[in-house]
Amino acid sequence: TKFAQMGLLQQTLDVFQNMGYERPTPIQCQAIPVAESGLDLIGVAKTGSGKTIAFGIPLIRHILDQPKLKAGEGPIVLILAPTRELAVQIVRELKPFLKASDLKAACAYGGAPIKDQIAEIKRGGIHVLCATPGRLIDLLQSNSGRVLNFRRVTYVILDEADRMFDMGFEPQVMKIMAQIRPDRQTALFSATFPRNMHALAKKILTNPVEVSI
Ligand code: AMP
Repeated sequence: TKFAQMGLLQQTLDVFQNMGYERPTPIQCQAIPVAESGLDLIGVAKTGSGKTIAFGIPLIRHILDQPKLKAGEGPIVLILAPTRELAVQIVRELKPFLKASDLKAACAYGGAPIKDQIAEIKRGGIHVLCATPGRLIDLLQSNSGRVLNFRRVTYVILDEADRMFDMGFEPQVMKIMAQIRPDRQTALFSATFPRNMHALAKKILTNPVEVSI
């Protein structure tokens, strides 16, 4: 399979062409059509498998299918990642694709001044927010005005979910998910999918399609 045969948006194909990416990796091959059709997804795939693009491409079509953001609205897509490094890396990798569709992303993670992150979110127009769970809770509870709300969030991605739960972020993740409309689309990516995560996944996802490579 080539990207050109997958029915992707022309502007997305143009970015792939500029980067010299011609063929999807196995996880991209399986996950992109599932997520683009609007279904919940469990993707079992390790770092290096191309999972970022696997969940990053469908989110663009999802956003373009939604009503445009009005003043003060956003984000539409929320990506949760276990670490600051991963959050930054995800946004860096998706930037050219988002830019090609005129979409804006922001990052929010601990260990950096919350003030700057509040200012960026308050400026508005953010379609994709990529955050670590702890900092996201802090932003939700920020008392410097209503900084962040999830009213427009209709698509949530949990990346490296196994690491996120190993790090003890389960209560934060559940608290965040409870505030997002239940008819959202949800995707969970994880390098492993142990038994204890099945129960968790069941609480977060609705009839998920599981793709494993
Ligand atoms: P990830 O698993 O998302 O961390 O991606 C690992 C690396 O593979 C990243 O540097 C990607 O830019 C690159 N990559 C992802 N998909 C492809 C592809 N279809 N063809 C070539 N390189 C890719």
